[in-house]
Amino acid sequence: MIDNYFIAEQFSLLAKLMEMHGENSFRSRTYSSAAFAIEKVTQPLADMPEEKLVSIKGVGDSVAKKVIEILQTGKLGALEEIIQKTPPGVLEMMNIKGLGPKKIATIWKEMGVESVGELLYACNENRLLLFKGFGQKTQQNVQESIEFYMKSQGSHLYAETEAYAVVIDATLKKQFPDKLFALTGQFRRQLEIIDRLEWVTTATDTELLAFLGANNYTTRETLEDIFSVMGPENVLLKFYRATPDNFYATLFQTSGSEDFITACQALPGWNSTASYKSEEDIFTALQVPFIAPAVREKSNVLAAVKNNPLTLITPGDIKGIIHSHSQWSDGVHTVEEMAKACIDQGYEYLVISDHSKSASYANGLTEERIREQHRYIDELNEKFKPFKIFKSIECDILGDGALDYSNSVLSTFDLVIASVHSNLKMTEEKAMMRLMNAISNPYTTILGHMTGRLLLSRPGYPVDHVTIINACVEHQVVIELNAHPRRLDMDWRWIDYAIEKGVLISIDPDAHSVEGYDCRHGVLVAQKGGLTKQGNLSSFSLLEFEEYLQKRKTAKKI
Ligand SMILES: [Zn+2]
Ligand SMILES: [Zn+2]
Repeated sequence: MIDNYFIAEQFSLLAKLMEMHGENSFRSRTYSSAAFAIEKVTQPLADMPEEKLVSIKGVGDSVAKKVIEILQTGKLGALEEIIQKTPPGVLEMMNIKGLGPKKIATIWKEMGVESVGELLYACNENRLLLFKGFGQKTQQNVQESIEFYMKSQGSHLYAETEAYAVVIDATLKKQFPDKLFALTGQFRRQLEIIDRLEWVTTATDTELLAFLGANNYTTRETLEDIFSVMGPENVLLKFYRATPDNFYATLFQTSGSEDFITACQALPGWNSTASYKSEEDIFTALQVPFIAPAVREKSNVLAAVKNNPLTLITPGDIKGIIHSHSQWSDGVHTVEEMAKACIDQGYEYLVISDHSKSASYANGLTEERIREQHRYIDELNEKFKPFKIFKSIECDILGDGALDYSNSVLSTFDLVIASVHSNLKMTEEKAMMRLMNAISNPYTTILGHMTGRLLLSRPGYPVDHVTIINACVEHQVVIELNAHPRRLDMDWRWIDYAIEKGVLISIDPDAHSVEGYDCRHGVLVAQKGGLTKQGNLSSFSLLEFEEYLQKRKTAKKI
C-alpha cells in the first residue's frame, strides 16, 4: 500500500525540483506545504474517501488530484517530467547535506557543474567562492558533506582508501603476530579505483571474525577459500585463506590481473603446488626478472622485462612542480609563497600556470595581467636564485582548437600547458579536432589533462589515444599525467604506448595551493604504465628542464 510518507516525499521532491528549475514559486510552495501537511495526517490517505482529501489543511483541489494520481498509478506525472529535465548528477546533489534547491540551481546553472564529483573538484579549485551565497565556510561544508556522501558509495579513489588500508593492515599484523598477512589485489596493484581491500592471510576465519566482529564488521561472503566483511567505513575487506606453504603462491596469484596471471601460468616454470619462500622465488622459477605488483597488468610486460628490467619512477624522482595556480587566478597562495614552499620541500623549480583569459570563472589572466605577472616573477627570480620560477599559462583550448592568446602573447611564456575546460560534452570528432589543432600549435609544450575526466564522477570526453600520442610525437608535445587523485589523466593504460613512441610524460600536480604539490598518486599510476624517471619531464633537473625548453623553442623557431 502507498503510505502517506511516500506521497509526502513525492510532493517534497517536486517542490524542490521546481524551485531548482526556477519555476513558479507559488506552486512550488503549495507542494512543499502539502508535503508537510500530508506527513502529519495519521490516517492513511489511501483509506480516505476522495472528497475528504480536500478537507486536509494544506491540500487544495490541485494537490488532491495529484494525490489520487499517486494512489492510482503509484507515481506522479509532474514529478517524472521534471526529473526527465534534470541531469542525473544534479539530482544526486540533493543527497548532499547542506545543499538546498537554490544553491544547487546556482551550482548547476551558473557554475555549469553537473555532478557531485565535479562539484567536489570545484571546491578544491575554490570556484564556489566566486558565486553569490557561497563563502569559505559554505564551500568547506559542501566539500565535507560530499566527501562523506561519496564514502558511503561502493567505489573509492585509491587516495581515499590508502590511509584506511594501512591502518587495518597494521592492526591485523599487531593483533595476530604469529600469522602472515599481505595486502594484495587492486590495492597492491595501485589501481586508481578501489572497490575492495584484499589480504592473503594464514589467520583463520574464526580468529578474524572474533576480532573484526567485535569492531562492528559484519560478514558479507564465506566461500571455500575467501571470506569478506564490511565495516563502518563502508569498504569491503576480502581475505584469501592460505597456509604457510602456499602463502606466497596465493599472494602472487591474487596480486596480478587475470591477463597477467594467465600468461604466467602458461610459462614452463609455472608450478602451482610448489612451496615458495617469497615472490622472488616464483619469478626465478618463471625465469623472468622480478616485476613490481603495480605493473602486473598487461601480459606483454613479461616479454618486455626480459631484455630490459624496469627501473620505475618513484615519488622522490619529482624535481620540479609543473602546472600550478596562484592567487592570480584560482589558487590560494601568492607566487612568492608557492616558490618558498617549493624551496622548503627541495624542489628545484616551479612552473606557474594560471588560467587563461577565457576561463573567466577562474579569474583567467588578461594580456595586461600577464605582463604584470611576468614582471613580478622576474623580481622573485632575482630574489630566489638559483631556484627558478617559470612563466607559463594553462591556456584554454577554445571551441575550434585555437589557443586563447595571439602568438605574440604566447611567445612571452617559457612554456604553455594547453587544456580543455569548456564544452566538455562533445563527440569524439569534435574533441579530436580541438586537441589535434592545439597539439599542432607550435607554442603548445604540454597537453594538460587529456580527457577532462574526474574519476567516479565524470567520464572524459571521448578521444582516440593512438592518434593523439602519434601527433604528440610529431609536434614534440609532452603529455601530462595530471597527478590529482581524481584526475590521473591521461590514463596510465596508454603510457606504455606513449613511451614506445618516444613521447615524454609530465607528472604534474595541478596544484591550487602549496598543499597540492604532492605528485605521489600520479607516480603510483605512472609506475603501472612502466614509466621511468628519464621519461618524465618533471623529473628533469633545473638545468635539464631549461635546456629542454630552449632546444624545443629553437627547433620550433619560436
Ligand atoms: Zn585544467
Ligand atoms: Zn590547472
